Amino acid sequence: MSLNENEILQIFKSTGALLEGHFLLTSGRHSNLYFQCAKVLQYPEYTEKICSNIVDYFNNIIIDTVISPAIGGIIVGQEVARQLNKKSIFAEREEKTLSLRRGFSLEKGEKVLVCEDVITTGGSVFEVIEIVKSFGAEVVGVGSIVDRSNGKVNFGYPQISAVKMDVVSFLSDDCELCKNNIPLVKPGSRKIM
Ligand code: ZN
Repeated sequence: MSLNENEILQIFKSTGALLEGHFLLTSGRHSNLYFQCAKVLQYPEYTEKICSNIVDYFNNIIIDTVISPAIGGIIVGQEVARQLNKKSIFAEREEKTLSLRRGFSLEKGEKVLVCEDVITTGGSVFEVIEIVKSFGAEVVGVGSIVDRSNGKVNFGYPQISAVKMDVVSFLSDDCELCKNNIPLVKPGSRKIM
C-alpha cells in the first residue's frame, strides 16, 4: 500500500506542507522550497498513508518497539507503532540532551526502530541511536517521512525515507531568486520581505 514519491509530494502540496517560491530560512539563507512537516501530519489520514511506506519497508524485520525524538518524530513513531501493533516511546530534550523520561525504558536486546519526521543533519536520530545502545537494546533501522539531505546522512542501519528532497539554498547576497526579483517570503507569515 506504499505511496510513490509523486503521490506523497502531491499530498505535501495540497496540505500546504511544501511551498514553492522564494523563502527566508531560519539560517538566513534563501531557498526555492519550504517544507513544514506538521502541516501534513495534522491530517491522520495522510499520516497513516505516508507512514505505511516505513512499515512496508521494515516488513520482514522483527521490531519490538518504536522510538522517536520529540516533538516532530512522536507523531510518526506513534503511527508506525500503531500499524505494527508495537510499543511507541519517545526521547525528549532536557537542557540540550535527549533522554528517556516519563518512566520510559528499554530492555537489553529489545529490537528498536527509530522514527523521525524530517532528517536534515540527522542529529536527533544519532542521539536517539546512542540512547538505544546505552540500554543494551538493538537498533534495527531508521524510518522518516522526509530526508532533506537527499540520502547523504547515513545512520549505519537500514533506513527509509518516504521522500528524499534536495533543497537548494542560497546565501542572501548570492541568490538566484533575488536576482530575478522574486518577492522574498518569511515562512509562517504573510509578510513579504
Ligand atoms: Zn533570495
